[in-house]
Amino acid sequence: MTTSTGTFAEPAPSALLLLGRGADLASERGVECVGALPAPGDPTLVERARAARAALGDRAFVLGHHYQRDEVIAFADVTGDSFKLAREAAARPDAEFVVFCGVHFMAESADILTSDAQQVVLPDLAAGCSMADMAAIDQVEDAWDVLVDAGVAQDTVPVTYMNSTAAIKAFTGRHDGTVCTSSNAHVALRWAFDRVGGLDGRGKVLFMPDQHLGRNTAVTQLGLSLDDCVVFDPRRPGGGLTTRQLRDARMILWRGHCSVHGRFSARNVADVRAAVPGVTVLVHPECTHEVVTAADMVGSTEYIIKALDAAEPGTSWAIGTELNLVRRLAAQHPGLSVHYLDSTVCFCSTMNRIDLPHLVWTLESLVEGRVPNRIVVDADDARWARVALDRMLALPGH
Ligand code: SF4
Repeated sequence: MTTSTGTFAEPAPSALLLLGRGADLASERGVECVGALPAPGDPTLVERARAARAALGDRAFVLGHHYQRDEVIAFADVTGDSFKLAREAAARPDAEFVVFCGVHFMAESADILTSDAQQVVLPDLAAGCSMADMAAIDQVEDAWDVLVDAGVAQDTVPVTYMNSTAAIKAFTGRHDGTVCTSSNAHVALRWAFDRVGGLDGRGKVLFMPDQHLGRNTAVTQLGLSLDDCVVFDPRRPGGGLTTRQLRDARMILWRGHCSVHGRFSARNVADVRAAVPGVTVLVHPECTHEVVTAADMVGSTEYIIKALDAAEPGTSWAIGTELNLVRRLAAQHPGLSVHYLDSTVCFCSTMNRIDLPHLVWTLESLVEGRVPNRIVVDADDARWARVALDRMLALPGH
């Protein structure tokens, strides 16, 4: 248990299948698929996907996250960020199967927001999210005990980013908190602070699991200072913080980050400005605070897409988000000069696990009457996560 007295917990086993277990190299190949997973080089893959998709008709609804590969996006009925996709799924009550081309926590949200009659399927169970995995429910419950011991829990509202497990969302529901997206984090934080005396009071927010989104929102949009923020490290006794630090803090940031956005640096921003005169640097708020403050514009994936749609022809842009989306935006806007903020940053490896062979295997399995990789959230967690999600939906702007 992580307590102020000193010992700490290993994360609880994840429902998600993690790759690379121990020294077993075979475990890194991925998750076994019942039946035969088509070979990546099979020249009939596109034709097979089309045929299976047509055979399913309105019985299936295929969702594609913006960070998915082009070969998968080509078969998506709708594309979007995680929250938009979950709402799109909820708006299709007649679809028997929701095929979620994204990562595990997104499929969980879709299961929470859809009816019991609908089945949500994730084409590859190894498609997780390193950020979501950085906050296990046991660790969060232990962290709350630390806040109780420090005498600050009653003045603290938990807020979790959509990019978290259903169990963490349920935790915020049970503790009078809410969920937020990268678009509405500032609204969710104002709501949370209002519940504990307002921004000028002494109340706090426990923000999970992305420390960067929490810090960027609090400092650049709410006017709090960097000194108001502390980082709670779940692997250190007491989160690595003193009681005094916890009492003085306004934002208690979970030590988590996105493995993709966390790699951009202020050096990348300086380099692209030197290489591309007049470039506008546009980054996602999961980037570090130094990158966000060095950039010209900051916003969610939907914001980034809209900004390029509205851009003046001939202008230059450097984008700091996942590479699949940036490449697609560059192709869609030949009149713009679109650059990736750091040429060495890779794709989101877990998003990329969903490829055409997995999609074909999933669709053909459904045609054959077999539901593969169904994602089902525990009923009690689903109930409380729904409470937290509904609180978010009730925030201004929804
Ligand atoms: S891009 Fe980052 S936050 Fe999104 S799924 Fe990948 S690791 Fe998770």
